[in-house]
Amino acid sequence: MTTTIPKTYKAVSCPGAGKGWETVTVPVRDPKPTELFLKVLASGICNSDHFVLDGAWPGITYPRITGHEVVARVVALGAAVDRAGRYKIGDVIGIGWNGGYCGVCRFCRKGDFEACVEQPVTGFSHDGGHGEYMYAPQNAIVALPEDATKNSSYAELAPLLCAGFTVYDAVRTTPHKPGDICLVQGIGGLGHLAIQYAAKIGLKVYAVSSGPAKEALAKSLGAYEYIDSKQTDVVEYIQSLGGAKAIICTAPSAKHISAIIPAASRYGVVTLVSAAVDGNVEVFNPFMNMRRATLRGWACGAAHDAEDCMRFSTMANIKAMVREFKLEEFNEAYEDMAAGKPQFRNVIVFPE
Ligand SMILES: [Zn+2]
Ligand SMILES: [Zn+2]
Repeated sequence: MTTTIPKTYKAVSCPGAGKGWETVTVPVRDPKPTELFLKVLASGICNSDHFVLDGAWPGITYPRITGHEVVARVVALGAAVDRAGRYKIGDVIGIGWNGGYCGVCRFCRKGDFEACVEQPVTGFSHDGGHGEYMYAPQNAIVALPEDATKNSSYAELAPLLCAGFTVYDAVRTTPHKPGDICLVQGIGGLGHLAIQYAAKIGLKVYAVSSGPAKEALAKSLGAYEYIDSKQTDVVEYIQSLGGAKAIICTAPSAKHISAIIPAASRYGVVTLVSAAVDGNVEVFNPFMNMRRATLRGWACGAAHDAEDCMRFSTMANIKAMVREFKLEEFNEAYEDMAAGKPQFRNVIVFPE
């Protein structure tokens, strides 16, 4: 276990929009008063890293180190960080998409930290975890259960802090009763986690993908039934069962999402957690009216909600399926992710 403070560290940084990734040496500074200095143990590559690479994120500044699915060890505390026991040097903690909050805006004063007007994002507003070390504001720290690493590696935990948290929150905030039907559309980086959460939360999961290849995997993750959309009319079949109370749309295809929305039950809730890349989602308006169905979007919340996710994930033994890479292999790991190849999350791991 290393808690000594180095003078410099290596990281992978994006020097500017469209300029790719480069390995840089970053000088270590003292943490700001409310920051922690952290040794990164694992950092997941998320599809949304491309917003930095492409320059598509509003207000992004460069150079920028991305990485918002991070498991790290506390190395140093800023002067104003709570030393009353919440954070101790040597603790293993998590950092997710949410990069903290201001604490004084109208949303924060109502406790709606996720809606903070500043909305800092880890790896976008400030540097993230694709490096040997990083800094993080104390209100972005996600405490991990003591036994989080009993059955999971750091790499298996890291993607739960963005991909896992997003689908966990989407499922748990959908009104449901145990045994209600949950339709998970897509079995990829988000979908393989959505199946696990929905099943462990007590829903009857129907997992949808095209072709027979993912049937065994879907069932091993907890799906009650696998539906091959090439063989079965998904909407007709699910409606014959009474409709889905929850539909979690994880594949980034507006065409496929639009096609599956009419599988919703009366008062069913369709949640979009992926960002469609092929156009806009279309809805047949009278269907939604007559079924009193809801279509909504969802994204990561603040750190205290991520802690709920990590507690539940540990209790239910939910883990991401990952492939591990070293920092020197970052380009290969990123290209593999961008090409949609991973089964299912690529994670950069660092020696302890
Ligand atoms: Zn992410
Ligand atoms: Zn705020």
